[in-house]
Amino acid sequence: MNADLENLVILQAQDLELKRLREELAEAPRRVAACEATLAKSESALASAKASLLKEESLRKSHELDIASRRDKIARLRKQMETAANAAQIAALEHEITFSEQVISTAEDEELASLERTDAFETARAASISAVETNTAALATERVRCASLTAAHKSTIAGIESERATLRATIAATDAGESLLSSYDRIAKAKGTALSEAIDHKCSACQMMVRPQRWNDLTNRDPHGEFANTVFHCETCGRMLFYDPRRDAPVRWSPGDRLAAASQS
Ligand SMILES: [Zn+2]
Repeated sequence: MNADLENLVILQAQDLELKRLREELAEAPRRVAACEATLAKSESALASAKASLLKEESLRKSHELDIASRRDKIARLRKQMETAANAAQIAALEHEITFSEQVISTAEDEELASLERTDAFETARAASISAVETNTAALATERVRCASLTAAHKSTIAGIESERATLRATIAATDAGESLLSSYDRIAKAKGTALSEAIDHKCSACQMMVRPQRWNDLTNRDPHGEFANTVFHCETCGRMLFYDPRRDAPVRWSPGDRLAAASQS
């Protein structure tokens, strides 16, 4: 492989690694925000369970007061019956007593229903308390992770950016360097990557076949021959093709591995 192309392979590995690191850097605060939202949701569920419990308690208190006052009233009515003057008065008093007894019965049913709802709200409150604890701990963990990832990635990015600047200067200083760099930048901007490894007669980026003649020119480079410094482009996707004779079998590398491998070459 010619030296410029070899340097471009390293440049691409650096660019891919920078992209990955920057994506993780942007993702870290989003993960913290997601934990904050989850915690806020459980806190709001807890507040709502507590409010419901208070509401039920005050509802029952009001029913109890109602029941007590109705009982007092019934006692008074019964006393009045003792001194009732005629049957019509007695019937009216009995009617009032029956009505108050119905009110008491309804209030007692509602008290019971309130107690059942209270059971459900107490279960919800217990679950919310435990969720708040879990989510508080998860948020603390995520904040620590975010802070350490941010510090580490910023420093790694600064290191790679400085190596990248040096590498670009090295490439730019060669005869074809400026033009290769501008092709590289243009293709990378359009396609995400500017270089593609030719593996097994194919462009590994777009998977299209490389014509046999071109494959031969690419793989059997005579260092002094006609194509020694020619950069071939994939006829389908336009990426610059490079061929690494050390690798015959197709392998998918993760960006980290690619950078490590490329830096060693
Ligand atoms: Zn291609």
